[in-house]
Amino acid sequence: ARSRLVRLRDTPAITLDGEPVDLLANIEMPEDAAAAVRAGAAGVGLFRSEFLFMGRQGHLPDEEEQYQAYRRAVEGMNGLPVTIRTVDIGADKPMDSSAQEGKHLNPALGLRAIRWSLADPAMFLTQLRAILRAAAHGPVKMLVPMLAHLSEIRQTLSLLEQARVELHREGRPQGAVQVGAMIEIPAAALMLKTFLRYFDYLSIGTNDLIQYTLAIDRADESVAHLYDPLHPAVLRLVADTIAEGRAQGKEVSVCGEMAGDVGMTRLLLGLGLRSFSMHPAQILAVKQEVLRADAAKIAPWARQVLESETPSALMGS
Ligand code: PEP
Ligand code: MG
Repeated sequence: ARSRLVRLRDTPAITLDGEPVDLLANIEMPEDAAAAVRAGAAGVGLFRSEFLFMGRQGHLPDEEEQYQAYRRAVEGMNGLPVTIRTVDIGADKPMDSSAQEGKHLNPALGLRAIRWSLADPAMFLTQLRAILRAAAHGPVKMLVPMLAHLSEIRQTLSLLEQARVELHREGRPQGAVQVGAMIEIPAAALMLKTFLRYFDYLSIGTNDLIQYTLAIDRADESVAHLYDPLHPAVLRLVADTIAEGRAQGKEVSVCGEMAGDVGMTRLLLGLGLRSFSMHPAQILAVKQEVLRADAAKIAPWARQVLESETPSALMGS
């Protein structure tokens, strides 16, 4: 089956009724770009930059080190877009397993991701400058994790503007970047109009959106049976985000595990999703589902699933 899939590598991902679908790769290190290209990814939909920051005993990568890393990823993708997510340190991705952060009572509700970045604006500026500089070498999109507050949106965009102005004044090359927000806290999914006003695109982080919507720690085995991607409330938030983005003509992607689950591909297509970002190893299997799907025919079924009290009962049909 694997070798049959490999033959799909260069086949464009288009549904039976002619809808093109972007199948993108999630990567953790610049070197992973090679696997993304090998899998026929249309780009990187999620570069988890925190992996550059982890396991270094608190010694953070400086601007130059970050710039070189982002640049390697950009050059590794040969002109395809690379979505660099600003650091998502904390909770399930601690900087050091021994460090202070493990001592917080509720790390998933604590100082993680954009909250951590905004707590040290000078440190965050080095990342923003590095991303803008890498964008001089190819198409780069920036993605901001865990936003929930308008004040966080404003601070982030204003620091980004400051980084642009600084680089310009210094005469350093920089590129244009599109800026997107992750929708992974229910609050964000409930204020889409605001997010769409400030951002060029949205990317749904279903791993955290499920965790926070259902109050299920994604790392706690004892409640893993309640971690349900098909919970009607989760589907509602995912569907609304896709629909609202489409209505405003802005791209919406899913970059959580849901995007790489072949059992979810038809549902997400039926809800209008046209951009999926996943582990490179999943791309060809998801492409096979896309090639077999008729998006227009699936849509009424997807709406039924969305409106059902027991969506999983309808998933086979
Ligand atoms: C997510 O939350 O779905 C996501 C893609 O981000 P991470 O898994 O890195 O938190
Ligand atoms: Mg997340």
